[in-house]
Parts: sequence; structure tokens; C-alpha cells
Amino acid sequence: MDYIPKSAIILGGGVIGVEFASVWKSFGVDVTIVEGLPSLVPNEDATIVKNFERAFKKRGIKFSTGVFFQGVEQNENGVKVTLVDGKTFEADLLLVAVGRGPVTANLGYEEAGITIDRGFVITNERLHTGVGNIYAVGDIVPGVQLAHRGYQQGIFVAEEIAGLKPVIVEDINIPKVTYSEPEIATVGYTEKAAKEKFGEDQVQTQEYNLAGNGKSSILGTSGLVKLVRQKDGPVVGVHMIGARMGEQVGEAQLIVNWEAYPEDVAQLLHAHPTQNESLGEATWHSRASRSTADFPQHHRAWCTRHGKPGAPGSKSGSIQSH
Ligand SMILES: Cc1cc2nc3c(=O)[nH]c(=O)nc-3n(C[C@H](O)[C@H](O)[C@H](O)COP(=O)(O)OP(=O)(O)OC[C@H]3O[C@@H](n4cnc5c(N)ncnc54)[C@H](O)[C@@H]3O)c2cc1C
Repeated sequence: MDYIPKSAIILGGGVIGVEFASVWKSFGVDVTIVEGLPSLVPNEDATIVKNFERAFKKRGIKFSTGVFFQGVEQNENGVKVTLVDGKTFEADLLLVAVGRGPVTANLGYEEAGITIDRGFVITNERLHTGVGNIYAVGDIVPGVQLAHRGYQQGIFVAEEIAGLKPVIVEDINIPKVTYSEPEIATVGYTEKAAKEKFGEDQVQTQEYNLAGNGKSSILGTSGLVKLVRQKDGPVVGVHMIGARMGEQVGEAQLIVNWEAYPEDVAQLLHAHPTQNESLGEATWHSRASRSTADFPQHHRAWCTRHGKPGAPGSKSGSIQSH
């Protein structure tokens, strides 16, 4: 596209849809998102969804949720979109940001004995198709469709073939960022998913509002950090919203992937003034105890489970070695 439309309808309020809505709104486009599910970014934690929708409304980004798209007509003025309840929207153009899928037909996969389900290549957790020496990686393997997942899976398969027994790439532990204004950064279980997995009364949450974070005030952004932990156990989810909060996903993924307790992280320093402090503050408020004696080094437990150096008794048994 070599021009900026005056108005646009975006079909789909998932990551790609809201990213386009955000950037077009910044360029002055009158944007309307049409999403059939009950909210924008429906895969996110409910607290993040609420804050995100509020931020988009404040920016003047319009959206219709909970009613599915029925059809679109093109005319000399642009497009007319109709929803299944008969409501219509008009704009210069329609961007379709739904329905991205694998393209695997007629490549001989099924003939080779590989299992295909709605175009996706089915593998075991070690990405093996079950046929000879054939593995699959990236978006054609069911799961989150992200560039860094495909990248890590590629490394995994190379190491697997080399006999290095790499750690499985688990979708739930993959960091995800929505590059809109505000940004959403997340890793691990949402509160709802954690309750389904661990039990309704086995999950604790902690929210830290960016209103208390100096750097966020300097940047003029609102937002929050939400921790989801197993009751008296490790952090299993970190969910963040606010301008530039995508940059904080690195520490968040270490916390979740190393199965850290808030008590482990609360004792670590977070430089002032940075947005990174908000993660430290969230763990500080979430910790159950002030005594270091009460929380052994949980990272070592992770190392033990995954047979990695750092486990007690291993040759390089120092946390600093990772
Ligand atoms: C608009 C948009 C924004 C995105 N933003 C992000 C983001 O911010 N961060 C992120 O992590 N991910 C993002 N993604 C997702 C990311 O692009 C994908 O997860 C990633 O590209 C998947 O990598 P892949 O190698 O599995 O597939 P692809 O990148 O699709 O690569 C497959 C390649 O195979 C080629 N190919 C297909 N069929 C054949 C054939 N028969 N013979 C030869 N070659 C063939 C294709 O042309 C293509 O080059 C975004 C996706 C879209 C659409």
C-alpha cells in the first residue's frame, strides 16, 4: 500500500488485527475492528483484555465484539461490511486479519505416511512426525504461530538429530508480545488457564499498577503487571500491558521458565528508574515470606528436573553459570 486510507475496517481483533489498528490510528485513520469473539485479544488474561480495550477506546479506536462477520461488498466508495446481526460498517477498505493457516496440500506429506490435520503436520512433543527421519517445525506444527517458536524448534531438531537431548520447546512457556500502543507482553498461564490446570483455589495473583512506576510516569503510560503463581509455589504466568512493556518479557520468561518463586525474584535488584522495576515490585508484593531461609534456590530444582548443570552435585553447580 502506498497511501494512507481515511478509514479502515479490520476483520479480526487478534494480535495482527490490533497491531494494524494501532499503527493506522497513529497515522490518523478512522479504524473499526470487527471481532466475533466477546473481546479484543481474546487469548489474553481477562485483566489485560479489560485494560487493553479501555486504552483502545481512549485512543478512539472503534470496535465491535461478540458478533460475527457475514460478508463484504465493494462499491465505488469503498467497502460495506455486514455482521450476522444485520449491522453494517462502511470504510475505504477492509483488512482481513483472520484465518492464517498452513499451506501443506499436494506436497506428498500424506503419501509419505505423515499425519495431517486440517493442513497442520502432527508431530510428537519432540517434533518427530513418526515417519523415518522426518521432523516438522514452525507454523505448520499446531500451536502458537510465532517466529521465535519456529526458530527455537529448528535449533531443537538440529540438536535432537545430533543426539544432544535438548529441552522440549513448550508452547505455554513461549514469550508473546503484541506490538500495539499499548503493548501487551505475556508468558505462561493466564489466571483462568492456571485455575483450570491447578485448581480454582490453588492459584494466587498479584497486580502491580504502572502508576507506581517512575519510568512509566516519565513515558506517560498507564498499565500493569500481573503475576499468576501456584499457591505458595512458582510463578506460572506473567502478563503485562503498557507502552514499551514488550521489553520486559525477557525477565518474565526467565521467571516462568526457571519456575522461580516470587520470593526468589523479590531479592534481586531492578534498576531505578526503569519499567523493569515494576516486575520486581510485583514479585515483592506477591512474596509470602521475607526470610531467605524460607525459599531455597528454586532454579536448582528446575536444573535437577531437566538434568542440566546447576543441579546440586553437578560439576558446574553455580546459578551464575547459566
Ligand atoms: C502480519 C504478521 C505479523 C507477524 N508478526 C509477528 C511478530 O511480531 N513476531 C513473531 O514472532 N511472529 C510474527 N508473525 C508470525 C511469523 O511470521 C511466523 O510465525 C513465522 O514466519 C513462521 O515461520 P515458518 O518458517 O514456520 O513459516 P514462514 O515464515 O511462512 O516460512 C515458510 C516459507 O516456505 C515457503 N514455502 C511454502 N511452500 C513452499 C513450497 N512448496 N516450496 C518451497 N517453499 C515453500 C514460503 O514461501 C515461506 O517463505 C507474524 C505474521 C504475520 C502474518
